[in-house]
Amino acid sequence: MHLTSETVESLVEHLSKLPTVGRKTAQRLAAYVLKMPREEVVELARALVAAKDKVKECSVCFNVTDDDPCPVCRSERRDRSIICVVEEPSDVLALERTGEFRGLYHVLGGVISPLDGVGPDDLHVRELIARVATPASSGAAAPDGTVREPGADGGPEGVPVREVILAMNPNVEGDTTSYYLGQLLAPFGIAVTRIARGLPIGGDLEFADEATLSRALEGRAGL
Ligand SMILES: [Zn+2]
Repeated sequence: MHLTSETVESLVEHLSKLPTVGRKTAQRLAAYVLKMPREEVVELARALVAAKDKVKECSVCFNVTDDDPCPVCRSERRDRSIICVVEEPSDVLALERTGEFRGLYHVLGGVISPLDGVGPDDLHVRELIARVATPASSGAAAPDGTVREPGADGGPEGVPVREVILAMNPNVEGDTTSYYLGQLLAPFGIAVTRIARGLPIGGDLEFADEATLSRALEGRAGL
């Protein structure tokens, strides 16, 4: 026998699966939902489903977008010679908020973490190397020896990447991933820099304030 409503229990159950939402918070959210006007609940439910159905990954940078390629990759005002590599789409948002960065992004979709069984093949590493190799009209080869077709990323041809900024979170996995990417990018002879100076160790890029993030971006250093 259930002392409370099974329906409410189920809602609490679903809400508590969300990150950072514990059982207590889930109960509070469920109580709030019950008090919301019906139309607002329907709108919330629709927004959840629409986010799932309509939002896709940009085929170039793997950021979340309604249209592929995403607005950043399509923009003619961005500096196509600089690619900033981040872990998650939320990091793109954080960096865009600083208004400081005018280059392009590459979302890895996580970090290398042997403990969690996440290796380079589970991330968009290959695609990053392809982007760096792609615009080289000189026929530069990727580390595996293959030569990529120019313009394969859909962007304008002939803008060689001259810098890759690694903007992983300052923790062990972030360091491991940066080191790995640094090694992989070394043969291309481009600048590989890393932000995170000034970011709190173990902190999350996503939650850094804009000033700190701007400074970290400005103070980036070579690997
Ligand atoms: Zn994109």
